[in-house]
Parts: sequence; C-alpha cells; structure tokens
Amino acid sequence: MSRGDMDLRAILLRRIAAEGPMPLSDYMAACLLHPVHGYYTSRDPLGRDGDFITAPEISQMFGELIGLCLAQSWLDQGAPSPVTLAELGPGRGTLIADVLRATAHVPGFHAAVELHLVEASPVLRARQQAALAGHPAHWHDQVSELPEQPLLLIANEFFDALPIRQFRRSGDLWRETVVGATAGALSLGLSPPAPIGALQHRLSDTAEGDIVEICPGAAAIAQAISTRIETHGGAALIVDYGDWHALGDTFQALRGHAPTDPLADPGTADLTAHVDFETLADAASAHSLLTPQGVFLERLGITERAQRLADRLSGDALSGHIAAHRRLTHPQEMGTLFKVIAFYPSQASPPPGLEAMRLQTRGPQA
Ligand code: SAH
Repeated sequence: MSRGDMDLRAILLRRIAAEGPMPLSDYMAACLLHPVHGYYTSRDPLGRDGDFITAPEISQMFGELIGLCLAQSWLDQGAPSPVTLAELGPGRGTLIADVLRATAHVPGFHAAVELHLVEASPVLRARQQAALAGHPAHWHDQVSELPEQPLLLIANEFFDALPIRQFRRSGDLWRETVVGATAGALSLGLSPPAPIGALQHRLSDTAEGDIVEICPGAAAIAQAISTRIETHGGAALIVDYGDWHALGDTFQALRGHAPTDPLADPGTADLTAHVDFETLADAASAHSLLTPQGVFLERLGITERAQRLADRLSGDALSGHIAAHRRLTHPQEMGTLFKVIAFYPSQASPPPGLEAMRLQTRGPQA
C-alpha cells in the first residue's frame, strides 16, 4: 500500500510503530492539518450542518463591532497608511466580510488597508475568497509572513486550534500525555516522569496529579503580532474560549456539535484546547488587556445595534436575532467563557471596549 492510499489512522499507527508514542501536539497537528487527510485541510467544518458554530456565524453584529473597534484604534493612532488588516484562521470569511462592510464609511480606512489572511486550509481559502467578493487579499501560511507595517489583527477561535502538549504532575516531575498503540488501535498513555523546564513556574501552584497544558505555537505567534504592533502601531483582538493561568484537561474533540472520542477516526473531528491567555500576555512585547466577550461587546454597543436590527425583523427572524444576541453576550452562554485579549502599543490608548479593565499583564486575574 502506498502512503497515498493509507488513511490517517494507518499513517499514524505506522509512525508510532517506527518512532514510539507521540506527544498530543504531534497527534493534533496531524489530525487538523495533514495535507491530505487533515480536518481543516480537507473540509469546511463550520455552521449548523458542520461540527461547530462560531460568533461571526451566529450574528453579523460580532464582525461589525470588531471592525468598528479596530477602525477606531486606527483613527486614534493617526490613521497610518498603509495598514495591514489581518485575520488568522478566517474560516468562511464571514468575520472579515462583516468588518469590511461595517468600516466602508470610515473616511480613508479602506484606501489605507491591505488585507492579509493567514489560513492553512485550501478549502477555506476558497471560501474566504468568495466571501470577499473581489476585495483584493494576500494569503499566507505563517504569521511571520505579515508585512512589517502597522497591523490591525483579528483572530477568532484560531488559538484553540493550535496543538498543545499536556502534562500530569508526578512529584516535582511531569508525565506527558502521549498517543500510542494498543492491540492495533490508537490509545492514550503517559510518558515516564521527566523535568520540564517550561513548567518550572507551575510547581508552586499545582498539586500531585494536576494537569497543565502548554501551547508551543501560541507564544511565538503572539510575539510576532505584538512586536509589529509595538514597532509600527496598530492593535490585535484575539477572541477565544479559555482562562488566565489555566489548569486542568481541556483537550476536546467535537463532531456534529457534540463531544466525541478524539482518537476515533483521526482527521474527522475538531480537536481543540482552551487558550491560556496568560501565555499570550507574557509573550507580548506590546501592552495587553483581557476582557470577557460579553462585557466587550456590551461596551461597544451591541445592545443598541441589536435593537436597530430588530426594528426590521419579525417572527422567526426576530426570535433568532434575539437568541443570537443572548448567545454572544450572556454569562451562561459565550459571554464569560469567551474572552478578548487586545494588544496595543505602549504609547497608544487601548482599543475601545477594553479600556475600563486595565489589568496587569502578569499575575493571576479573574
Ligand atoms: N475564525 C473563523 C474560523 C475558526 S475555525 C470563525 O470564527 O468562524 C479555525 C480556523 O483556523 C480555520 O479557518 C482553520 O483552517 C484555521 N487554522 C487552524 N490551524 C491553523 C494553522 N496552524 N495555521 C493557519 N490556519 C489555521
């Protein structure tokens, strides 16, 4: 059997037979981004008929308010031109299309903007191109390819898709979660205890058996973004589910909007982990602020915008719209679990929606 005929399970089992069990990060990377069999590379997973639904797919209000927030930051910083408008993992392109529509009347903004999208999936790149309806854009594989100039950046549910490593505390050492093989099937295991330099600082706030996760890619990406912002100006809004100073097992698989076994049928389920916002803030060379999504959207005026849109709706469309507003903002829905971290230059004022909650970039926060 040639490699091209193998499915992803067979490819992974062969690799494990040759090299031994692999860290969760290698398993996640293969499942999500394998060039042929990867979850994102081979399909559009979003929407009601897919596996999960995201804020921009729930309501146009999300992208509109993000767009106005970024445009206001651009105005506050003297309207630099050219300016990169970038999105990481734009999915179907809905968010960036809403951003562009909402900012069409901001004087000079569209003339200054150069659109740059970082997207690994050819399937989703095609959807993004269609959503942009002729608006010129550059696509990239890596954040490091973004131009060295002022940067306005959005990332919604991008960082949760980055591969994580997971460790269980054992004395002052750590055992890593690995994917191996048992009787011809993929299985989870734990590596022998070893010291982990990157977790030295977690020995003071964890106990025997506690699980902590690290996302090796997240810090590098946060640093690349924040350095451009600190050097050239701009702002970043990173939105995702997660916590500050995270603890516990958050690795999960979703298929058809329901949890599923992450080892069953590799490459066919969405694999994610919660984002540790402390990692992003600590890696940033710009200032950062963290705010719950619900509070952020309320401060930007989502309720006024929702009422305006409601005036034109009735029946099912109206009840759907009211439910969408609640879903994005309510503490028991996405309002508190999802958070926004903003990066902005130390010489500039924070983007609107975040200014009242100035938090230290280090140290535990609620
Ligand atoms: N932001 C969109 C989609 C979120 S799904 C929304 O809110 O609807 C995650 C997106 O990130 C998808 O577009 C996926 O293809 C992309 N992605 C995941 N890992 C990536 C990586 N390592 N590099 C580039 N894009 C990636």
